[in-house]
Amino acid sequence: MSSEPATSVPTDLDLSLDGGALTAQLVDFPSESGDERPLADAVERALRALPHLRVDRMGNNIVARTELGRAERVLLAGHLDTVPIADNVPSRVEGDRLYGCGSSDMKSGVAVQLRLAATLPEPNRDLTFVFYDCEEVDADRNGLGHLVTRHPDWLAADFAVLLEGTEGYVEGGCQGTMRIKVALTGTRAHAARSWLGDNAIHHAAEVLGRLAAYRPRRVEIDGLEYREGLNAVDIRGGVAGNVIPDECVVTVNFRYAPDRSPAEAEAHLREVFAGFPVEVTDSSPGALPGLDRPSAKDFVAATGGAARAKFGWTDVARFSALGVPAVNYGPGDPNMAHKRDEYCDLPVIAECERRLVAWLS
Ligand SMILES: [Zn+2]
Repeated sequence: MSSEPATSVPTDLDLSLDGGALTAQLVDFPSESGDERPLADAVERALRALPHLRVDRMGNNIVARTELGRAERVLLAGHLDTVPIADNVPSRVEGDRLYGCGSSDMKSGVAVQLRLAATLPEPNRDLTFVFYDCEEVDADRNGLGHLVTRHPDWLAADFAVLLEGTEGYVEGGCQGTMRIKVALTGTRAHAARSWLGDNAIHHAAEVLGRLAAYRPRRVEIDGLEYREGLNAVDIRGGVAGNVIPDECVVTVNFRYAPDRSPAEAEAHLREVFAGFPVEVTDSSPGALPGLDRPSAKDFVAATGGAARAKFGWTDVARFSALGVPAVNYGPGDPNMAHKRDEYCDLPVIAECERRLVAWLS
């Protein structure tokens, strides 16, 4: 027997609710990655009821647009999926906090998107709302990635805002990340006759020395400071306790500022490790903040003027691939993401909506 309240899954979304109540309704709509269809259906129905929007759909990805012929177009994006529920649905309110799976990551952001879609029939910039699936799983399933490949025209915009949780700060762009393997080789031999061999692990010393001596850049872009980092994250070598090893592999992760392209990042690493074989095993580009654009300047001013660099990798980089500068700005608290006691502060949801409405009205 359970003493918990009966779970009644809503069938429709009520966009006239305030942002907090709408977030609660979204949390009560389970949408673990891969099971977004009922929520995507509800989002589509709610958007199709708004005559000022054109609505397109691909799979569980919904794109809604105003077509007012404004000089600029702003895209607002959010993912519909959550990590697996952990006894934290349905939602509950305690004081100023809304608890529940996805409240911070990122149904509060989705609620703000839906509120803007419903309440701004005549925004001062054309708006594109993107709701996508499978953000919390392998990158190749990411709905936004699929839209970028299949329908880049749906995503055309001058500026994009990803409403992932930033606690109400504007986080510009994101850093790029690249992983490489540096494989050192030698000659295997018996440790008792080591002069017959050539120790590959010893060759790693030079690689590690270059890493230790490396001075990472601090780069200012559009007033935001990005800090790069070049670090060994794994090292493997050794055959047995009595063998001179003939192989040692150092894995290095480079987190780089978004003024470098992946090709430039790779060229830089080949320079740093000149004389050693470098193999790129993983690469995701960074994203420029684009805060020099007029719409972005207005945006930062409207959101309180507090911008900081984004250090992780986020889906904003997918917009960069389309030439659309993008920032992260959302009501969720990133520290709460994926936690059993995940919550979102209700006043931050209201504040986020209020500031975006002010910017777009
Ligand atoms: Zn998220």
